[in-house]
Amino acid sequence: MQRWLWPLRPGPALVRGFFVGPQPWSPGHRGVDLAGTAGQPVLTPFPGTVVFAGVVAGTPVVSVEHGDGLVSSFEPVRAQVRRGQTVNAGTVIGDLLASGPGSHCLPRTCLHWGVRRDGTYVDPLQFLGAEPGPAVLLPLAEAVPTGLGQPGVS
Ligand SMILES: [Zn+2]
Repeated sequence: MQRWLWPLRPGPALVRGFFVGPQPWSPGHRGVDLAGTAGQPVLTPFPGTVVFAGVVAGTPVVSVEHGDGLVSSFEPVRAQVRRGQTVNAGTVIGDLLASGPGSHCLPRTCLHWGVRRDGTYVDPLQFLGAEPGPAVLLPLAEAVPTGLGQPGVS
C-alpha cells in the first residue's frame, strides 16, 4: 500500500499518540496530535473525497474519505474545500486554527488527526511508513487532561 503524507509540512512533532483503553467506552485518544502553528496549511495525506467540512461541537472539522473504508478527520481546521470535492495527496484542505477552549491540545496549537476504518478508529501513523524528521515525542505531562489514561497504561 502506498504510504501517506504527513498532513503538516515539514513533518511535525508528535504531541500525543493514539491509544485506546481495554473497552470501546474506555477513555482514550482516538487520533494523533501533531504540533503546528495557527494559520499553517493542512494537507490531505492521501487522495480522496471531502465528506465533511463544517463544525462539530464548536470545533471546525474537515473529513476526507480515502476509499477502502478509510476516513481521515482533521480539527481544528478552517476548511478551504467543500463537501464532495476531490482531493489529491498534498492538497491544502484548510488552515490550522489555534486551540479553542476545551481543546485537549492546550496550551499548544496542534492538529488532531483521526482515522476511521469502517467506523473504528485506528492509529493514523501506521499509514505513514518511515519518513525522516518527525515523530519526536514531546513531554506529555501538561497536555494530558486529568482523567485520561496514559499510553501503555490500562
Ligand atoms: Zn487529539
